[in-house]
Amino acid sequence: MAGISDFAVQVPSPLVELRDMALDRHDIRLYLKRDDLIHPDIPGNKWRKLKYNIASAKEQNATSLLTFGGAYSNHIRATAAAGHYIGFRTIGIIRGEEHLPLNPSLDYAVSLGMHLSYLDRASYRTKTSPAILNQLHDMFGEFYLIPEGGSNELALAGCKELPQEIDINFDTICCACGTGGTLAGIAAGLRPGQQALGFSVLKGGDFLRNDVSDLQRRTFGEDTGNWSIACDFHMGGYARRNRELDDFIESFERRHGFRLDWVYVAKMMYGIFSMIEQGKFPQGTTLIAVVTGERQPLDV
Ligand SMILES: *Cc1c(COP(=O)(O)O)cnc(C)c1O
Repeated sequence: MAGISDFAVQVPSPLVELRDMALDRHDIRLYLKRDDLIHPDIPGNKWRKLKYNIASAKEQNATSLLTFGGAYSNHIRATAAAGHYIGFRTIGIIRGEEHLPLNPSLDYAVSLGMHLSYLDRASYRTKTSPAILNQLHDMFGEFYLIPEGGSNELALAGCKELPQEIDINFDTICCACGTGGTLAGIAAGLRPGQQALGFSVLKGGDFLRNDVSDLQRRTFGEDTGNWSIACDFHMGGYARRNRELDDFIESFERRHGFRLDWVYVAKMMYGIFSMIEQGKFPQGTTLIAVVTGERQPLDV
C-alpha cells in the first residue's frame, strides 16, 4: 500500500491575486486560494476533508473505505480517486436506483476501482442506522466509514489548515457551501478579527447554519462565532444554473482566462462580486476566495 506521503498533492496550494476593475472601483483586494490545483482528480476541499480520515483509516489498519453520496457527488469521485492512488478498496453507496449506462461521474468512480451499491431513498435517509450499517457490514465486511459529503470531525481538522497556509493579512475568507464542513473547518483556523463567509449552493440553505454550528461544536467544543452564510446566490438550487450565472462565468473567463466550476465556485464568485457592488465590504477590505475545486461537473 502506498504511503500517504508518496501521493503527490500540491499543498500549500498557491495564493494568487485577482486584478479586476470592479475590485479597484471599490478599493477591494481579492486573492484566490487555488485549492483546485491540489490534485487533478481530487477537488481541493475534498482532499482536505479526506486527509485525516485516510490517516485514521490506515492507523486502524482498514483496507476499505465506504461512503455515501448522490449520483453526481464530487465526494464519491474524490473518495474513489483517493482509494485508487493510496491503495484502499472503495465502496460507494449511492442514493436511489441504479441507472445504466452509468453517468460519467459514477463511470469515472468505477474506472478507479470503486464498487457501487444502491440504497432506495427511504433506506438512504436512515443510512447510518445500526440496521443499515449491519447490512452493509454483512455485504462488505470491515470498512472505514466516511459520512456523506465527507464532513466529520477529521474533515474539519483538515480544512482548518487552509487559512493557516496564507501568509498575507486578510479580513474575510469566502468559500462555497454544500454540507458546510469546509466553512466550519476554515473558520476554526482564522486569527482573531478575521471572518469566514460561506455561499450556499443549495436553495433554502438556512439549515446550514445549524449544521455548521453543530459540526464545530462536535469538533472543537464550541461554535467559533466568526462565520456567516449568504443564502441568496444559489441560482435556483443545487446543480441548477441560469442565464445570469452562465453570463458571469463567460465574462469572468474572458477577463481572467479561468473557467469557474458552475456547481460551487461560480456561485461563490458571483456572490462575492454582487456583494462588492452592493457595498457590503468596507473600502480597503482584503478578501480570500477559496477555489475549492475546478473540475467541470459532468452532465448534470
Ligand atoms: C463538495 C464541494 C464543496 C462543498 O463543500 P462542503 O464542505 O460540503 O460545504 C465546495 N466546492 C467544491 C468544488 C466541492 O466539490
